[in-house]
Amino acid sequence: MVQTKPGQAASSQVTPNFVNGEWSVPRSDARLAVSDPATGETLGAVPVSEAADMDAAVAAAKAAFPEWRRTPVVERARVFFRLKALIDEHHDELARALVREHGKNLDEAWGEVQRGIENVEHAAGMPALMMGDTLEDVARGVDCEAVRQPVGVFAVITPYNFPMMVPLWFWPYAVAAGNTVVLKPSEQDPLTHHRVVELAVQAGLPPGVLNVVHGRGEAAQALVAHPDVAGVSFVGSSEVAAAIYRAAGAAGKRAQALGGAKNHMIVLPDADPDMVASAVVESIFGCAGQRCLAGSVVVGVGESYEPVRERILDGAASLKVGCGMDDGVDMGPVISDAHRNRVAGFIAQGERDGARLLLDGRGTTVAGYPGGHWLGPTVFENVSPDTPIGRDEVFGPVAGLARADSLEAALELVGRNPYGNAASIFTQSGRAAREFRYQAGISMLGVNIGVAAPMAFFPFGGARASFYGDLKAQGKDSVAFYTDQRVVISRW
Ligand code: NAD
Repeated sequence: MVQTKPGQAASSQVTPNFVNGEWSVPRSDARLAVSDPATGETLGAVPVSEAADMDAAVAAAKAAFPEWRRTPVVERARVFFRLKALIDEHHDELARALVREHGKNLDEAWGEVQRGIENVEHAAGMPALMMGDTLEDVARGVDCEAVRQPVGVFAVITPYNFPMMVPLWFWPYAVAAGNTVVLKPSEQDPLTHHRVVELAVQAGLPPGVLNVVHGRGEAAQALVAHPDVAGVSFVGSSEVAAAIYRAAGAAGKRAQALGGAKNHMIVLPDADPDMVASAVVESIFGCAGQRCLAGSVVVGVGESYEPVRERILDGAASLKVGCGMDDGVDMGPVISDAHRNRVAGFIAQGERDGARLLLDGRGTTVAGYPGGHWLGPTVFENVSPDTPIGRDEVFGPVAGLARADSLEAALELVGRNPYGNAASIFTQSGRAAREFRYQAGISMLGVNIGVAAPMAFFPFGGARASFYGDLKAQGKDSVAFYTDQRVVISRW
């Protein structure tokens, strides 16, 4: 390995791995370029790590575990109090870095950093979160206690769409609970989180406790298969999530694998159409649709359909597409040319399958940014739940409109979809909202809310093809996932 000093890490062209407290570039000269999706400008590159690099990172994490586990939980927690303060201090810098490598606009990037901070804050509460249970006299003169102990080395594998926040759904909880971690971030936009890792070092995280290796799917697979990795936290597309979950399970490891989504938004006739349209447009087109919580199909029940259809069309057509750094931009580019082509392929297929294209974002250009991966807001109506545009995850700025005669029929549409991440209802009826909550079979539910994003102290994750596992990200689930309960029964 070629090693660089910490101070050099951010400015060097190749963003190094971080193993045992050292910034190091693997000897293999294979690199993956990281570019600005608005300009096409190359921002840097990451190494393509190989099995030997994974071995070194896991070995460092394994070696660091015994001492880190013995470090009092209050001291472990203090690292996160300091990290929180440092991220606050660098909030603007991190948000701007996010805009550059991901393409979302500055407000969205600010929000992402804020959501990341909230997970660091929550993980800093580990002394209280990790407390166990005790009960005296479970038999005459016999007491019982359950203590939570850390498990060992965890692998964390994350996607491109929230590259700063999603790693913070996991590693702060794992580490604050006394485990050590090897993180494999998305190869498409790993630079902002790299800066967070530098701040974590500044906050006092000892060598080996958090390690970062860059690379593609092969690197992630090597981590999951590594015999010294005790558990896996994964977020990405459903196909990969399912494969990771199977591989981890076959090796006897605990795993939580969050996958893709196709989120429905049901509008009842008693909802206020202006409020609905503004929530729905933000939900569908925010972050250019590259959110696991993005609205995808709007189901208008009865006479709610026409007024909402008109307003969504007006709202979508008025969105300003451009570079996320520029004032007044509502929607940035999608992450890459390949992804734009994939989304455009869904649009073409939607037309062939008989959905009616009301607004076509293909061909959108932005003056001054000829190299950007632009795709404007796109709206279809008459989307069928049995065609790709109505059924599959598009992950781009594409709205599908559908009609239903009743709440029951709308719920039937939701139930037919293979995904189960999020869904929303817009209504003034408490009874209808309760029915929706009771019947939807979806994990993250919005009532008059377009993006139902659980905060750090609640579980984040879906159902069906959107989630493989049982314990979700964030909140109490996170503490349960990263600890094992050891039960002690004593008689003296
Ligand atoms: P992706 O599945 O392509 O990649 C995710 C991670 O897995 C990356 O680190 C990548 O390098 C790695 N990877 C890719 N192929 C792999 C393979 N065959 N084996 C092992 N690892 C592999 O996902 P993406 O395009 O980066 O992110 C978008 C997806 O993530 C969408 O489907 C989105 O819905 C999902 N997502 C879900 C949630 C959630 O909470 N459920 C949150 C954010 C993103």
